[in-house]
Amino acid sequence: MKKVLLPLLILMVSVATMAQQLPKSPNYQANDRFEQMGTMLPTPNSYRAASGAPGREYWQQRADYDIKAELDDDNRRITGSETITFFNNSPDELKYIWMQLDQNLFKKESIGATSRTGTISEKGMSTSQLEAMNNGRGSSLDPKKEYGYQIAAVKDKAGKALPYTIVNTMMRIDLPVAMKPGTNVVFSVDWSYYITEYYGRSGYEYFPKDGNANYFIAHWFPRLAPYDDVNGWNHKQFLGQGEFALIFGNYKVAITVPADHVVAASGECQNYAQVLTATQKQRLKKAETSKTPVIIVTQAEAEKAEKRENKSPGKKTWIYKADNVRDFAFASSRKFIWDAMQTDVYKDGRKIWCMSIYPKEGNPLWEQYSTRAVAHTLKSYGARTFEYPYPVAISCHSVAGGGMEYPMISFNGGRPEEDGTYSEAVKYGMIGVIIHEVGHNFFPMIVNSDERQWAWMDEGLNTFCQYLAEKEWDFNFPTRRGEPNQITDYMSSDKSVLSPIMSSAENVIGLGPNAYAKPATALNILRETVMGRELFDHAFKEYANRWRFKSPTPADFFRTMEDASGVDLDWFWKGWFYGVEPVDQDLVSVDWFSIDTQNPEIEKELARKEAARRQATISKIRDAQTKGETVVAQDSTMADFYNRYDPYKVTDADRQKYEQYLAGLSESDKELIQNNTNFYTLSLKNKGGLPMPVIVKMEFEDGTDSVATFPAEIWRFNDQEISKVITTNKKVTQWTLDPYFQIADIDTENNSFPRIAKPTRFQLFKQQQLRRAPNPMQMQGAGAGKISSDPKN
Ligand SMILES: [Zn+2]
Repeated sequence: MKKVLLPLLILMVSVATMAQQLPKSPNYQANDRFEQMGTMLPTPNSYRAASGAPGREYWQQRADYDIKAELDDDNRRITGSETITFFNNSPDELKYIWMQLDQNLFKKESIGATSRTGTISEKGMSTSQLEAMNNGRGSSLDPKKEYGYQIAAVKDKAGKALPYTIVNTMMRIDLPVAMKPGTNVVFSVDWSYYITEYYGRSGYEYFPKDGNANYFIAHWFPRLAPYDDVNGWNHKQFLGQGEFALIFGNYKVAITVPADHVVAASGECQNYAQVLTATQKQRLKKAETSKTPVIIVTQAEAEKAEKRENKSPGKKTWIYKADNVRDFAFASSRKFIWDAMQTDVYKDGRKIWCMSIYPKEGNPLWEQYSTRAVAHTLKSYGARTFEYPYPVAISCHSVAGGGMEYPMISFNGGRPEEDGTYSEAVKYGMIGVIIHEVGHNFFPMIVNSDERQWAWMDEGLNTFCQYLAEKEWDFNFPTRRGEPNQITDYMSSDKSVLSPIMSSAENVIGLGPNAYAKPATALNILRETVMGRELFDHAFKEYANRWRFKSPTPADFFRTMEDASGVDLDWFWKGWFYGVEPVDQDLVSVDWFSIDTQNPEIEKELARKEAARRQATISKIRDAQTKGETVVAQDSTMADFYNRYDPYKVTDADRQKYEQYLAGLSESDKELIQNNTNFYTLSLKNKGGLPMPVIVKMEFEDGTDSVATFPAEIWRFNDQEISKVITTNKKVTQWTLDPYFQIADIDTENNSFPRIAKPTRFQLFKQQQLRRAPNPMQMQGAGAGKISSDPKN
């Protein structure tokens, strides 16, 4: 609409609020929210390309492990010996090697323990809380035990002792001769430690009723720290919150446990022939072709074992092999029930073992859902990234809540009541956590980001994929993280408790919302609102495949998402990943303009109505009701021309003038006029600070509606206040910003124009609060579902 005439034709017919340019805020500063990221990202080089792909000289280290370990069930202790072949694929000479001693987190002098803060509550504290405050390491440690590693020996290939220095949770081994690029070194470490009670990542769970413990063993052997092109040696201390930075390698692990234990581990078991009974082997064979999980160790068998009728069962050694993994974990107990099935055949002809290991306390939920959730996760994530490359995926039931991931194996919560009933929250929490932890195989076990530095790179991407997989499980899945309106409470918190997503995992306040929910939500918004599903899915898949079995940094992710999609997202990364500002768009006002048709039949009638409206003052209305006689009414000689004159009557002169006007108009001008086009000017404020697309729903007077979307770049000239003209043929009765909750707007009350009063319902009488309400299954007397565990073989 570039008609020169147009501005002259527009006449304001109704003013919703006074139209005026909003004043600039006194502290208005140059808007750099849409400037490119420039030096915020590292300069690309031959190791990491400007496209976000691995560079032409990309390299990474490798360490192969041969581990022999024994679990001492009576003393809750593990003793091991490992031979490591470390390959120096870097272009640098290395005089020493750094290893991670994560178990040293539980030593009294660890930074994790001594840096713990807290105060004594006057309201009272439990002895375990006081104990936690005292030893700084959590309440579950036995004060009589020395936790952390006892390093018995560090030796070279020939068995000669190598000098080493322990620095809290890290150990430096000095090499007699510096490693040249392209060479490898073989050395061994002997060690042992007391296993802690399960603390969220690993440990044992003790069952007082039967006197047994389930073991979930992880970050259990000294591991190579990464040496890479970004950090050199990556030896940031383990303080407990930040997870792991690791390198790939091939593992051979022999685990000796009491003979009545069942073991599950990262990798493929090499000696089921020796460790399983004939019946168990038959069941496993059956599971190879079954479409549903097959029980390998039944609940009856597990319950028999936990009675410990065989006081000295002897020992068994389970041998595993895992190739191209960044870690190795295992679980062991005589309480374990075990079920298994295989996936459909992959394109490359492989089938993946999906398995679950759980004590009877997990049933009936675990038998019904766990292995199927594992299989669903591999399928859902595989479609967005790449086909799962490992031979097995195992879900173990650790303790009641939470979960923890390792290659091919994860430890997950979700436990029914003792009567076998469970709440909806426990059921969906369990399925959700299994999807999440099995999903971690993709991020960070295969797309191997540095978890200790960037929690969001694995947790955020994984939580996003989890959100999608949950909706694929059930459209009504009560997803906890991913929907924009689920992050608004966090984003509207006081700035003092907000850290940018781009913060070190050990320092982040509120790890859950910061590293899981906010990045997952940001990715969902990119997919649904900024990029669209097709472009997003293409770029996300490209990222996963570029960095499969490699180690990406944040810049590699940011660059790949733009490189593969062709969408400039620098403003988005700055706002969502580097900033803590929330989104709050305010629809301040809407001004309505329509074209003056200049048709006297229309315009004079409108003018008459407007004049009548303005005449209707309260005095005039009351005067008319009193019907008092006026001078002019009583005496007709007091009237003249002006008492009869109707200024709104259409005259021949008016008609003639209109004919002339019409003759001068183009066809498109005539069309605009005939369609009764309405012009609206929306005045918007960016109150939150984080610029986002403007999405506005228009409800028309005929009951229909429509939605207009404008990209975030609408804020690029002024990121505080803008005006936007919207043209429609129908009159708009109601305007609503972000009608489908797409942009995480923290205050939706300023999203409508005219403003809508929000109803608040309150209760007159405080409802009686039950301390612990029974779950709905208990209230309705529903059975817990049968616990079959009874394969017919
Ligand atoms: Zn996670």
